Amino acid sequence: MQHHYIANAAVPSSSGRTIAVIDPSDGQPYDEIQRGTPEDVDAAVQAAQQCYDSVWRKLAPAERGRLLQRLSAKITEHAEELAAIEQRDCGKPTKQARADAAALARYFEFYAGACDKLHGETIPYQEGFSVLTWREPHGVTGHIVPWNYPMQIFGRCVAAALAAGNVCVVKPSEDACLSLLRVAQLAAEAGLPAGAINIVTGYGHEVGEALARHPGIHHISFTGSPKVGTLIQQAAAERHCPVTLELGGKSPQIVFADADLDAAVPVIINAIVQNAGQTCSAGSRLLIDSLIYEPLLERLGLAFEQLRVGPAAMDLDLGPLIRQSQQQRVWDFLSDAQVAGIPLVAQGTVVDEAPDTGYYQAPTLLRDVPAQHRLAQQEIFGPVLAAMPFHDEDEAVALANATQFGLVAGVWTRDGARQLRMARRVQSGQVFINNYGAGGGVELPFGGVKSSGHGREKGFEALYGFTTLKTVAIRHG
Ligand code: NAD
Repeated sequence: MQHHYIANAAVPSSSGRTIAVIDPSDGQPYDEIQRGTPEDVDAAVQAAQQCYDSVWRKLAPAERGRLLQRLSAKITEHAEELAAIEQRDCGKPTKQARADAAALARYFEFYAGACDKLHGETIPYQEGFSVLTWREPHGVTGHIVPWNYPMQIFGRCVAAALAAGNVCVVKPSEDACLSLLRVAQLAAEAGLPAGAINIVTGYGHEVGEALARHPGIHHISFTGSPKVGTLIQQAAAERHCPVTLELGGKSPQIVFADADLDAAVPVIINAIVQNAGQTCSAGSRLLIDSLIYEPLLERLGLAFEQLRVGPAAMDLDLGPLIRQSQQQRVWDFLSDAQVAGIPLVAQGTVVDEAPDTGYYQAPTLLRDVPAQHRLAQQEIFGPVLAAMPFHDEDEAVALANATQFGLVAGVWTRDGARQLRMARRVQSGQVFINNYGAGGGVELPFGGVKSSGHGREKGFEALYGFTTLKTVAIRHG
């Protein structure tokens, strides 16, 4: 049985109720988390505020950095344990779970080093004045995290918020909490003061909503669906609380005829099958120059047929999807494709060892997907790649930009001028040329345009969002 983690202590919910934790590889329950309440959120916010006032606000930035560095080291020390927890909770193949634990440690390492390098400016103004700016923390920040990469997304927002001088209240997804509860314990062992990181588990409409509405929360970072992002922004707007929204995507991978296909093919596939396609920045649309449409689809089809799906612990190309409703969602999209007569090029295989009760989906490559069909417009959040041809650069740009989203884009071409033109014309928060990194490295600012959200996380840029700028104008004559 798991508990909330508030002020460095395991705390039961005031509801006295729990939620079952399901293993997606076999659909069976194996643990329980607390079903949190608005009262639990309130307790966490109070603990955070107390930590901020009595300890965190007064720490020298270098000292904050040392604590975050110690937490990074602790995470590295416990990386195998954390990866095993995440693997079972989320159905991640071993290599993915290990990569997520390593990324979590890296976030704390990166932001540990940034703590004492964040500063304001002096501004030339009128004779007789000195003007300076200070970057001040918001205070208590709220973090609502989804289930697809709990450790990575926690690291991304919490490490940056702490580095900027804030303290945190975190609400993980009800489908994936366990690794974060363990990280909060490790933070206490690393010496972070009670109340610096607080975790309240439970449902979105109960705990998440209470967090978004709480007057003691001074900034909210939300990663999740556009629908819930709207609710969060509405709740925050009631009290003018700043928000960072990292929402979904329908990111294009654009392949021109002069591309290095040997390099492109494995990257194109990984961009859609990584984490079983449950990645906000998955490269889920494939726009192919008509000159190479048939040969590239043939190569990709052969590669898709080799992909294998199975229980997380088998460490195959893909594990299961997170839950039955997600599996059903993918099935609905695929049956729509069938009804619309969209041709299926190839599918991978679900291995015989996969229990029928698990949430498996073979990776699927579809071709000639009409640009306005919902398969080319909506986020499926499963391993389904929608391919379509283009005839020139203008059409490639028009197709790339023809969705409500704009998170990441990949462009494959050897033509240097075209690389830069495409990078300018594609509407997205990140553009990868001759590569595709779902989200990219810890150092690279990440976030969306249009319905993919606003604000930036990762890199040094994130620190600006987790601070507010104060201008001090001194008239000294
Ligand atoms: P979701 O929006 O349903 O849930 C995300 C989080 O919000 C969960 O913790 C959930 O409990 C909480 N929540 C749900 N309803 C809420 C409410 N009314 N008030 C407050 N909180 C609430 O999304 P999901 O199913 O967990 O994740 C999948 C979605 O997240 C996809 O659309 C995906 O694209 C997006 N996502 C985006 C990024 C990114 O960085 N842009 C990263 C991962 C996932």
